[in-house]
This record gives sequence, structure tokens and C-alpha cells, in this order.
Amino acid sequence: MKFVDLYAQYLTLKEEIDAAITDVIQTSSFVLGPHVEAFEQDFAKATEAAYCVSCADGTSALYIALRALGVKTGDEVIVPAHTWISTSETVSQAGGRVVFADTDSYFGVDPADVERKITSRTRGIIGVHLYGLPCDAEALARLAKKHGLFFVEDCAQAHLARLYGKPVGSFGDVATYSFYPSKNLGAMGDGGALTTNSEAIADFARLFARHGGKGKHVMEGVNSRLDGLQAAILSVKLRHLSTWTKQRRVLAQRYTDSLQDIANLETPRLRRGAEHVYHLYVIRAHRRDALRDYLRERDIPTILNYPRALPFLPAYTDWGHTEADFPLAAKAQGEIVSLPLFPEMTHANQDLVVKEIRSFYGGN
Ligand SMILES: *Cc1c(COP(=O)(O)O)cnc(C)c1O
Repeated sequence: MKFVDLYAQYLTLKEEIDAAITDVIQTSSFVLGPHVEAFEQDFAKATEAAYCVSCADGTSALYIALRALGVKTGDEVIVPAHTWISTSETVSQAGGRVVFADTDSYFGVDPADVERKITSRTRGIIGVHLYGLPCDAEALARLAKKHGLFFVEDCAQAHLARLYGKPVGSFGDVATYSFYPSKNLGAMGDGGALTTNSEAIADFARLFARHGGKGKHVMEGVNSRLDGLQAAILSVKLRHLSTWTKQRRVLAQRYTDSLQDIANLETPRLRRGAEHVYHLYVIRAHRRDALRDYLRERDIPTILNYPRALPFLPAYTDWGHTEADFPLAAKAQGEIVSLPLFPEMTHANQDLVVKEIRSFYGGN
């Protein structure tokens, strides 16, 4: 069994994707160009944002966003303890100082802990809609406004998710996306984008990501571009994203219906008002590592997203954080396990996963 089967998805769209690739080759628009412009418009529309600036990957989208927001040396930016390292490393790359806040019980950053971490040097907050479940973006946006901070939403795992009826990405100053192949909207290589409703931020980001403006160079920038092949492929896939999202939700509900009575595990909790897009289906499990071994022996792959919360990784050990500083993130890292889930997954395969989990815990 596969954790994610990207080839299965390609086969469902083979003709459309092959035609899109051929079109890019025939027009030789390999870097930026009409396919990239078309995708930026498509994606802005899909996410209900005024502007979309594409770039090389989701990590550089975060870096470009932080530079567009004016992060400079010594500025503190508060980020979740439990996320992928792009969220924090880009703060350091921009010259800022990473300040971690603990997670809440939905794997989002806890607004109460964020508020405790605000100092006179704090410039902004990054929230992450981890696993596809919106974090408490409304509370974070309110905090940011109250303290005069920026708020960035890392939407790398949450394309098309919503909170209180509004799309993720619409709560903050900038939203960043990744199109890494296995993300809910994935390219056949790297890709990323930021969206915003601010013309000034969009203009800066576009200049900064293209060497400070082609021919003009009004400033030094970086080289962070989406290529034509990825853009053309993404435009094709974007047309199917809401169908795939529905399929993910059906599969997630099937898992939850058939696992929720097991006392030794907890199925994903839903935040009130949130529309989860299930980038990952993450349960909390007793004897988690033994469960993973048991499943692996039966050809069922699982993943840990992520095995260590950021403050406890070698990259940050010099700061001397202990588990007591981030109790919920510390607890989560020992319990979480991601089960296989992707739109093309068969119900038969899913039933097999359920059966083996039940047999591990001695149920039936
Ligand atoms: C995937 C991911 C990123 C980075 O995206 P890349 O395209 O791999 O650079 C950033 N943040 C989160 C939460 C992610 O899951």
C-alpha cells in the first residue's frame, strides 16, 4: 500500500496534463510567461484573494512574505512550536528572531500563548493551518490588530480550507502556499505562491522575487520563480481540487466513523466553524510506535508529521527549551501518527487500514 499515490492521480488526468505540458514546450515559455500568469489569476480566484504572486516553493513564499512585511534584524516573529521547519527558518533568514508558541488541542498555534510571548520587539505572528485544519486565525488576526503586528497564514497544507465561512488566507496580511507534489494541490516538481489583498505587498513581492524587477532593479531581490510546466500542470489540477477535497473529506469521515469507538486512539478533532481539507489524517494513538511497527509489517505505511516539535530539534537546542515550555506540542509529538489518505485511495484499502488498527488494539 502507498501513503500517497501520485501516479494514480496523474492517470486520472493524463490527457489534460500531457496536453498542457506539450503546450508549454511548443511555446517555450519555460520560466514565468503566459502559463504562469494564467495560473496566478486562477489561483487568486480560487482562494478569493485580490493578488497572487507565484514563486519557486512554499518556503521562499514565506521568506518573500516576511521581507515584504519589512522584517529586519532583531524583529521577533512568533511561530508555532509544532509545524514544518519552513515556518521558522524563514524568519531567521529574513534576519528576525524566532519565538515559539505552544499548540492548542487542534494542532494550531495557541492564541493565548502567542499573546504571552508578545514583547516590545514583536513584529508579527505566523499561523499554520496544519494538516488542513484552520488554526484559530480569527483570534490571531484580532491579536495582531490589537498589538499592531502583521499576521501571515502558512496555508501550505490547507488549500481551500475555510473558517467561519471565509477562506483561509483571508484573515492575515499575506497567505503562503506550497505546491510540493504531495500537497493538496501539487505540481510535478517544486512550486509556491503567496496571496494577499494588499496591492503594496503584492507589488513588493513580485519585484523582490524577480531580482528587484526585470531591467529596473529598484532593489536587490532573490530569484524565486514558478516555471511554465509547473504552472500549466497546476492550472489543470486546480480545476479538480474541489472534487479532490470532497473525496478527502469522504475518506476522513469513513476513518472517523470506523475508528472513533476505539478507546486507545483519538480521531481528529474539528474546530468549531472550520472546514478541514485533510491534507493529512492524523490520529493520536496509545503505544503509537508499536502500532506503526504492527502496520508496517502488514504493508501499511504511516508517517510522523512531525516526530519532534521544532524547539526540541538540534537546530534549536542551543536555546535550551524544555518540554515544559511547550507542554501540548511535547505531548503531541509522542502521540501523533498520520494514516494513508489521498483522493484516489480505494475504500477497500482504507478498510484494510481500519481492520489492522482494530486488530492491533484487540478489537474487531
Ligand atoms: C510544505 C510546507 C512548507 C514548505 O513548502 P515547500 O514548497 O516544500 O518549500 C511550509 N510550511 C508548511 C506547513 C508545509 O507543510
